[in-house]
Amino acid sequence: MSENKVFDVAVIGGGIVGTGIAYELSKYKLSVALIEKSVQVTQGATKGNSGIIHAGYDDPEGSLRGELAAKGNKRYDDWSRELGVGLKRPGSLVLAFDESGIEYLNKLKKLGDERGVPVEIISKEEVIAAEPNINSEVIGALRAPTAGIICPMRFVNFLFKNGVKNGVTPFMDHEVTGFELSDDKIQKIITSQGNISAKIVINAAGAFGDTVSSFAGIDKYEIHPRKGEYILLEPHPDYNVNHVIFPTPTKESKGILVVPTETGDILIGPTSENLHKNSSDDLTTSNLGLQEVFNKTRQLVPGLHTGLTVKTYAGNRAQPNTNDFIIEKYNTPDNFINAIGIRSPGLTAAPAIADMVIEMVEEITGALELKENFETIKFESIDQSKKALSNIEWADSLTPNLDSPSMPLMEKAWDFGVKKELYNYFCFSDRGLGVDLGATFQNEMIKILLERGLNYNEILFRLKDSQQVTVKE
Ligand SMILES: Cc1cc2nc3c(=O)[nH]c(=O)nc-3n(C[C@H](O)[C@H](O)[C@H](O)COP(=O)(O)OP(=O)(O)OC[C@H]3O[C@@H](n4cnc5c(N)ncnc54)[C@H](O)[C@@H]3O)c2cc1C
Repeated sequence: MSENKVFDVAVIGGGIVGTGIAYELSKYKLSVALIEKSVQVTQGATKGNSGIIHAGYDDPEGSLRGELAAKGNKRYDDWSRELGVGLKRPGSLVLAFDESGIEYLNKLKKLGDERGVPVEIISKEEVIAAEPNINSEVIGALRAPTAGIICPMRFVNFLFKNGVKNGVTPFMDHEVTGFELSDDKIQKIITSQGNISAKIVINAAGAFGDTVSSFAGIDKYEIHPRKGEYILLEPHPDYNVNHVIFPTPTKESKGILVVPTETGDILIGPTSENLHKNSSDDLTTSNLGLQEVFNKTRQLVPGLHTGLTVKTYAGNRAQPNTNDFIIEKYNTPDNFINAIGIRSPGLTAAPAIADMVIEMVEEITGALELKENFETIKFESIDQSKKALSNIEWADSLTPNLDSPSMPLMEKAWDFGVKKELYNYFCFSDRGLGVDLGATFQNEMIKILLERGLNYNEILFRLKDSQQVTVKE
């Protein structure tokens, strides 16, 4: 690393927020660094969520997250078009099973109307006609047709690929451990692999955002992990759904959902469990959590069963003490921007968060000039070229800009030292949440890893101590 280079902007954190900001910055005449502590992007909350682009009607009045979720929902059309990455808009249904539920739906409808988000209340008959697998005790639902679903990993990988294509310098495997401060500025970013200098520093470090903020002397924020566990199922006529299905929400969360994923699987979850501050890296799943997921979602879709489980996983929401997104710039240091506390619906809000941060960058720099030669590699074009991935030398030149890696490439990753993380590494990156992962890909992958002497538990369990589904049906 050249310690002499001074980037115009450095973004810390390769989740949807940091990668989205870096991608948007790459449209301008700026030199940009993206610093991520993991070996690749999308390893935080962004890989452990429901993948829903919420319609944006239900966050509290006056909250930043409410404002940015509504804007972000619309802006996903732009990202999807620019990157060629799939966005479906199946719409969502919030189900009511009693009169108090209907009262709640009326409140949500009023919120939607006030915010200009299309929502309607539909009858029991309309719900059952649209969703034959729903519990027939339903008495009505709120339908939000603009709710969408994406594969978050694929989006982030393409934001990353395209940021890099347009000049972003990635610093993977670089953990930010401090800042050198003087004259009201961050002079240097101290990382596990040397220092990086930038005129503007943006903190998008997710669950660790409060720690990174404290390096800049801004230590009034605290972020706590709130875990959510999931079960991903292959589709089945007994439980397939067309919309994202919500129960009537609680104060803490939107509840445990049934989601038709972008690739056609069925995702059920998440739980909502507050963890100790130091447990942000705890992504284990548990029998207790998975049983709760199963019991609660079976109240919505009684035909659910877990025989076709693809995998279980968990993610940690970054729950800030402000209960809202923290997107701010400061007088001291005057070259620092926080984009932290990005709890749910942060995936939805991400493009609007990027827009807001870019406005702040513009306020600091005075003006931003668009590049004439900005262009994107779209998902379809990568898909065609993936056939050529069996040519290892050519594939090599693509690393780390891979889409669906071939088996030879995985073998190469093994030789390179990825080893027992290989399964997790590929399953949770570009392969996304697909069924192909559950069948052909997964079986091949497991065979290779067993042949190489790994133990079965290490392979099947996403993380040590995580549990496969053993729910009582
Ligand atoms: C269970 C669950 C369900 C959710 N469902 C939805 C949903 O359906 N729809 C929705 O809109 N939102 C949802 N969310 C919220 C959404 O996932 C998050 O708001 C979003 O992913 C936050 O992105 P981020 O980039 O801020 O954080 P992350 O994705 O956590 O990224 C932060 C990155 O910073 C890196 N980092 C941390 N510390 C350092 C350091 N010191 N140096 C360098 N790098 C560092 C991390 O490795 C990580 O890659 C859900 C979240 C969870 C957990």
